[in-house]
Amino acid sequence: MHLVNDGLREMMRAMSSIRTLNLGYPRIGEHRELKKATELFWEGKLSRQELEDTGRKLRRQNWIKQQAAGIDLIPSNDFSFYDQVLDTTCLLGNVPPRFGVTRADFDTQFLIARGQRGAAENCEDACGCDAGHVSTFASEMTKWFDTNYHFIVPEFRADTRFKISATKVFDEFAEARALGIHAKPVLVGPVTYLSLGKGQDPDFDPFSLLDQIIPVYEEILARLAAQGATWIQIDEPVFALDLNERQRDAFLEVYPLLARAAGPAKLLVASYFGELRDNLPLFLGLPVAALHFDAVRGKAEVSALLEKFPEDKILSLGVVDGRNIWKNEFDDSLSILTAARDALGKERLWIAPSCSLIHSPVTLENELKLDPELNDWLAFADQKLAEVVSLSEILRGRAPSSVLTENRASHASRGNSPRIHNPAVQARLAAVTPADSDRKSAFPIRQKLQKAKLGLPLFPTTTIGSFPQTPEVRSARARWKNGTLIGVAYDAYIKEETRRCVAFQDEIGIDMPVHGEFERNDMVEYFGEQLDGFTFTSHGWVQSYGTRCVKPPVIFGDVSRPRPMTTYWSGFAKSLTKKPMKGMLTGPVTILQWSFVRNDQPRETTTRQIALAIRDEVVDLEAIDIAAIQIDEPAIREGLPLRRADWQRYLDWAVDAFRLCASGVRDETQIHTHMCYSEFNDIIGSIAALDADVITIETSRSNMELLDAFVDFNYPNEIGPGVYDIHSPRVPGVGEMENLMLKAQALLPAENLWVNPDCGLKTRGWPEVRNSLTNMVACAKALRERAAISNH
Ligand code: GLN
Ligand code: ZN
Repeated sequence: MHLVNDGLREMMRAMSSIRTLNLGYPRIGEHRELKKATELFWEGKLSRQELEDTGRKLRRQNWIKQQAAGIDLIPSNDFSFYDQVLDTTCLLGNVPPRFGVTRADFDTQFLIARGQRGAAENCEDACGCDAGHVSTFASEMTKWFDTNYHFIVPEFRADTRFKISATKVFDEFAEARALGIHAKPVLVGPVTYLSLGKGQDPDFDPFSLLDQIIPVYEEILARLAAQGATWIQIDEPVFALDLNERQRDAFLEVYPLLARAAGPAKLLVASYFGELRDNLPLFLGLPVAALHFDAVRGKAEVSALLEKFPEDKILSLGVVDGRNIWKNEFDDSLSILTAARDALGKERLWIAPSCSLIHSPVTLENELKLDPELNDWLAFADQKLAEVVSLSEILRGRAPSSVLTENRASHASRGNSPRIHNPAVQARLAAVTPADSDRKSAFPIRQKLQKAKLGLPLFPTTTIGSFPQTPEVRSARARWKNGTLIGVAYDAYIKEETRRCVAFQDEIGIDMPVHGEFERNDMVEYFGEQLDGFTFTSHGWVQSYGTRCVKPPVIFGDVSRPRPMTTYWSGFAKSLTKKPMKGMLTGPVTILQWSFVRNDQPRETTTRQIALAIRDEVVDLEAIDIAAIQIDEPAIREGLPLRRADWQRYLDWAVDAFRLCASGVRDETQIHTHMCYSEFNDIIGSIAALDADVITIETSRSNMELLDAFVDFNYPNEIGPGVYDIHSPRVPGVGEMENLMLKAQALLPAENLWVNPDCGLKTRGWPEVRNSLTNMVACAKALRERAAISNH
């Protein structure tokens, strides 16, 4: 055997080589071409034909790119004009009956996603508002697992019937084939699809539709097989969640049928975003030809998986992280892959990214402004595919040795760079004691001191921070950033806006004014730009929902605050009024949650570093006599881990990070926090543990139902239940807001209540804001009068 020569060995390797695959490629385009074309189409400035051409062109580019990169199994039907779950809804003909269409044609997807508008007056596209001009409501949108991608929630009713109603999945397979690419169609699996949907009423169980949905999936698979598909990928990311009996039974029932229906085509079932834990046996028992496993999030489970992996299946190992932007550490991946190859043999091992690449930006090619050192640490979608291919070449002994040495060199550079490791930050964090996360006195004492200092009336009025970001404000900032507006002129302009905003609040009688946040582009970016350890890409866009893309900041190193970030504007605003000006900050968990974070230390550590930076800002605001400081944490809830068992650990460090940044001040300084879209029932203990003096929340749309959690818990601190729905241009009437407040007052002590909108006003226009806030102040006055009468 040892006489076999190298040439022959090489040939044998090539014949039974490890294959590479991709689960999904970003569809937005390198320069967000899809977003731009779709929005022009909505505005009537682009024909449907032109939009479809853009889609076709992007798909072609993406396929050819993947082929050129050397990916063996290239996905099709991963493209979408809006959302892949919505595409599934159209494919299955599950269009909610209120839209009154039976066929799911091209326009149906936008109809479901955006609603049908009647006579639209002074309202943005798809505002979803209840001002009366939306004749048919859009379907709801919610987060796809723990990503920042939002999907359109399927709707289910007892009379829901499924029927193949769109041809996209078949067309795209044929389209790829015409380009010489034998693609692997991707489907959202039936168990995931039913799990993510919403019943017509809370008692309706979507799984009662299982028998209805199976035959349609069978038909889809049979048709794809007849078209010549050899592999079909079915995404079942619910494997990363706690599954109930219904879901488990569904897996057992569905997959034997689907595997049979696919006939000659083979099925690859993909799980990602987490460990399998108790779902491991169920997953491994699926009667399909191949299974994809997320070996990044599930790294600790790989050996258990290999030990039990069935002999008749292929394992696709997702070793390249699809959820971040860091270069893969080849040595690390290779140790996993070698173990897998030794356990399974190379014929049964595939290499892939951990999940679809729609969660990472398209390519590093266009990042011309990033410095070369940082650039060398990163990998976006295109680079990740190249990594997958490199890993397979290394395993096959076909890669030049430079591939591995260069990868090692960039990791060594990242590991040792003084730009990442700041000893002062680390020493400070190490010296933090539990007492640093405690205010000096308990809330009742603080409350008394704060009431004395602030001298506010009963039912004080305030807002959540931002005022309308008009096109003029945005354009001034854009011109300042691109150098066409000089700093002095920009500063003068923002000062004028701030002055007008504070004067307006004084004029209508807001008790605790804010500066308006005109200087801020985005609540995370504004801080990231001023903190060390953050950087920004020029094209690092990822899809958030529909045509909306976000460009998250990149946290690459130890975080610190070189200088105060908000005292200039808060101090200026404070000088304009006698009322207590509220300072505005973004909290550490939200900053973490909405950024790409480093993967070389726990998220918890990064959050605590941010908390210390924000703590300094809180103290500096206090030093210039800002008596109330709001630390926004709208993302606390969305940071909850996918598995219930992991919640408390996360909540503990998230709460501690908030307390760490809020506790450097005197008792009489009032700390506010704000959360929107939050359901509180299951986390109310942690919300109370934040120990903010005041919390403002979104409640108007739920008719104060969200308050129940606070009431049941006997929430001790002050609370501002939003009375003005800022998602709509509609101006709420005084009586309407008063009714909401009376409900709140029946539940909570009047001396703990604030009157405020649901959230910031930046997306609203001045005319509505003027009227709404004037009404809101009138509402507070009416409440005070009632209280005075009942006290007599
Ligand atoms: N202070 C921010 C604003 O008013 C809060 C935004 C948010 O909660 N998402 O815009
Ligand atoms: Zn909010």
